[in-house]
Amino acid sequence: MTLSDKKKIEAYRESGVPYSEIAEILSLSLNTVKSYCKRHNLGGRRERTAENILLCKQCGEGVPQTPHRKAKIFCSDKCRMAWWNAHPKDVQRKSEQIFICTVCGGSFSAYASAKQKFCSRKCYGISKGAVIHER
Ligand SMILES: [Zn+2]
Ligand SMILES: [Zn+2]
Repeated sequence: MTLSDKKKIEAYRESGVPYSEIAEILSLSLNTVKSYCKRHNLGGRRERTAENILLCKQCGEGVPQTPHRKAKIFCSDKCRMAWWNAHPKDVQRKSEQIFICTVCGGSFSAYASAKQKFCSRKCYGISKGAVIHER
């Protein structure tokens, strides 16, 4: 964790951003964020208010927050796109991949992390030995 990561964690916590979101924003593990916050008295539930401002992850501009909403970490769609373009690895990890169904051989798309093996519930059923009555 870098010094700037630590500063950001503090700023995010002041703005009521949950641990899980901070971990995602900074690409840190949830436990790293949690234990850092506990050690530095940044734990507990914090209310996010309209006055809270986070810095845009891309350009560093202040981004006003909406209470009770997921933290906004980009000031605009332009910055969001620019950031994702600059981090293709992170995008790839979350994006969809083409898989081949192990039952019917058809292709289907699913999240790369999903480890899905079948194109449909029907094929899933067949793989479990269920009798499927077609037509
Ligand atoms: Zn921005
Ligand atoms: Zn199939």
